[in-house]
Amino acid sequence: MVKGYSDPAMEDKFQDRYFHTTDSNPEFLKDVEKLSRSIPHMCFQCGTCTGSCPSAPRSSYRIRKFVRRAVLGLEKESLTDPDLWLCTTCYSCTDRCPRDIAPTDVIMAMRNLAFKWDIVPRNFLKTIQLIYNTGHGVPNNDVNRAARVKLGLEAEPETTHKYPEYLPGIRKIMDHYHMKENADRILSEGEH
Ligand code: SF4
Ligand code: SF4
Repeated sequence: MVKGYSDPAMEDKFQDRYFHTTDSNPEFLKDVEKLSRSIPHMCFQCGTCTGSCPSAPRSSYRIRKFVRRAVLGLEKESLTDPDLWLCTTCYSCTDRCPRDIAPTDVIMAMRNLAFKWDIVPRNFLKTIQLIYNTGHGVPNNDVNRAARVKLGLEAEPETTHKYPEYLPGIRKIMDHYHMKENADRILSEGEH
């Protein structure tokens, strides 16, 4: 709930930190559950997930908080939080959750939803461009080609590098989801 200061600095400083029922979008929980194929609504906030998380001791990232936000339908808070991208997807939380929730997959679902808001770190977008252009997230290069030849291997591996005729199929899948188009657009907007 916003009191409505006209000055953005004041707005930021005195933002309302109470949770109101109107802050909750129940569709957000449904979207997260559908995409993650998990059951965050069963979370009882034991904290085992955050206690397992390698990112937690070194940052403000708290997986338990993100699961709580999913349950409460706090869409904007979840998707605009930079900590969303600090999960290493190590699956320790998923291994240990006593309620068989997959918090890792809750995070993956939220990242997918954030991408639809154009919120995504640049390295993901660059990876999309590389896969679109070469079929590889980490493509071959001249140094590695020389190293491969020295090892008695062919310069190019048995992949799309050697058989580029498979690239159009990969591009067709990516075009279906407008991945390259969105990556190019977001990257170019960021450069202005
Ligand atoms: S471990 Fe499972 S039940 Fe416990 S807080 Fe994390 S998600 Fe919730
Ligand atoms: S999967 Fe992500 S949230 Fe879960 S413990 Fe690993 S880094 Fe933390």
